[in-house]
Amino acid sequence: MPKPKVAFYWCSSCGGCEEAIVDLNEDILKVVELVDIVFWPCAMDFKYEDVRDMKNNEITVAFINGAIRNDEQEKMVRLLRKKAQLVIAFGSCSHLGGIPGLANFWNRETIFESSYGKDCPSVDNPKRIVPQTKSKVPEGELTLPAFHNTVKCLDQVIDVDYYIPGCSPAPYLTMQAIEAILSGELPEKGTVLAPIKSLCDVCERNDSKPEKISINQIKRISEVIADPEKCFLAEGIICMGPVTRAGCTSEGNGRCITVNMPCRGCYGPPPEVKDVGGKMVSTLASIVGLEGEENTCDEDVEKLIDQIVDPAGYFYRFSLPASLLRRKRMSKPAKGNK
Ligand code: SF4
Ligand code: SF4
Repeated sequence: MPKPKVAFYWCSSCGGCEEAIVDLNEDILKVVELVDIVFWPCAMDFKYEDVRDMKNNEITVAFINGAIRNDEQEKMVRLLRKKAQLVIAFGSCSHLGGIPGLANFWNRETIFESSYGKDCPSVDNPKRIVPQTKSKVPEGELTLPAFHNTVKCLDQVIDVDYYIPGCSPAPYLTMQAIEAILSGELPEKGTVLAPIKSLCDVCERNDSKPEKISINQIKRISEVIADPEKCFLAEGIICMGPVTRAGCTSEGNGRCITVNMPCRGCYGPPPEVKDVGGKMVSTLASIVGLEGEENTCDEDVEKLIDQIVDPAGYFYRFSLPASLLRRKRMSKPAKGNK
């Protein structure tokens, strides 16, 4: 009987999700025994034509990581959607937009200006040339994929069957997903293949929280030595645990918490949270206040909130494209609708 065919593809990503596959360690040997890897351009020499020439639905499952930033990525994921029975959005960028999605605080024009304009300290570009989709050179014409104005997560471009969250996804979740696909025991379409609890629900520091948290100073983790036993949030260090899905380790405590760093939210929201940033603002609003004073005045609260450096970037670090905001509205909209 032929083995199931598996494809891996990366879009706008750092490569960490590709490493997460390699992080399966010896389990990867079990995987390659059970499946045929038919496309994995990061690791093996496959070409676009290899996929184009496959029959529709020939691939059993395509794992796609990275956000959609340009035309080439959009074309590839549309092709993979046709050729694969199942598509899995793999990792934060594909699931929610991830770190590349923070570019939605700008647009194509401002990004090109900061990368190729006069204020970019590492570029010598007196003619302020920006990348073009077509350029004539003596040898002929060169082409580049068009750079979109807005970064999208995968399900804003194609239909997605399942999601494996994380920056990068924990190997045990990847292995569980592969086992579920091979056994045919898959949950309902659209499921995020990770626990449904929040990180706070499983965090060992949760018991250290006082009955009523009241913080009167916001501290940045780089400026303090955090007590390894205490809840970050109760200490005034912003931790995204209340609005983040558990599952980044199989043992409970988050990966970052284990190394005494607050959670940044890469696993995305648990099912009951619609918008990570909005929910985090409401969580903070319920705990900021001067100790012992029931009615902290608005001015005091504003001073506290002002201590949060880059709140939008902090709260939507992994999820801006998938959020209710999606992107910043620019005073001068970009040409084209992508
Ligand atoms: S806020 Fe952070 S440190 Fe506190 S219980 Fe939640 S995950 Fe743990
Ligand atoms: S603790 Fe938070 S930021 Fe760190 S890996 Fe887990 S979900 Fe991601």
